[in-house]
Amino acid sequence: MMNKILIIEDEEAIAELEKDYLELSGFSVEIENRGDEGLKRALEGDFNLFILDLMLPGMDGFEICKQIRQEKNTPVILVSAKKDDIDKIRGLGLGADDYITKPFSPSELVARVKAHLARYERLIGSGLPENDIVEIRGIKIDKTARRVWVNGEEKNFTTKEFDLLTFLAQNPNRVFTKDELFNKIWDMESIGDIATVTVHIKKIREKIEFNTAKPQYIETIWGVGYRFKV
Ligand code: CA
Repeated sequence: MMNKILIIEDEEAIAELEKDYLELSGFSVEIENRGDEGLKRALEGDFNLFILDLMLPGMDGFEICKQIRQEKNTPVILVSAKKDDIDKIRGLGLGADDYITKPFSPSELVARVKAHLARYERLIGSGLPENDIVEIRGIKIDKTARRVWVNGEEKNFTTKEFDLLTFLAQNPNRVFTKDELFNKIWDMESIGDIATVTVHIKKIREKIEFNTAKPQYIETIWGVGYRFKV
């Protein structure tokens, strides 16, 4: 996915220079010349990073940064013409991720943009909980997505088939009686009996076993119940 960057900068030559370098590095870049218009665009668009000049017509970079932060965590790099501004940026606690003073080399800007995008992606990535996966030999069960793959091929399971398979796979090498399985997987109000378990095991085997007569995963322990082989 191409990263989109919004530059809010009133000095056209600088904006174009930044744009050229960023585009050469593979970014998609848009420019706004006014502060107020820029803020509007920033809040509406799906940008991955903002580069804000401080002194702008309509609204200054400080205010834009503050307002972006109220709605988004997207990285913001402030661009200042004066060294003095750095103290102000620090003091205001605007939530800017970085600042750079003019004149700067375009390659330095590109390097910082890349660093902030990478850091932000790591942050976002680590914020997403990973799917809960159970994997035993050729069987992969994604508990979060409720999907099952057998030797890489996805198979469809009904709710109870899925629950039963998952329960057995998560408790391998243990024998469960049909009564125990029925009580675990079906709630008290369910109509059915332990024969339901037998039917479901049969259906599951048809989907996961190469040869249902010689099951490799769910074994029948005669007179007792079932066991998931490790
Ligand atoms: Ca300016």
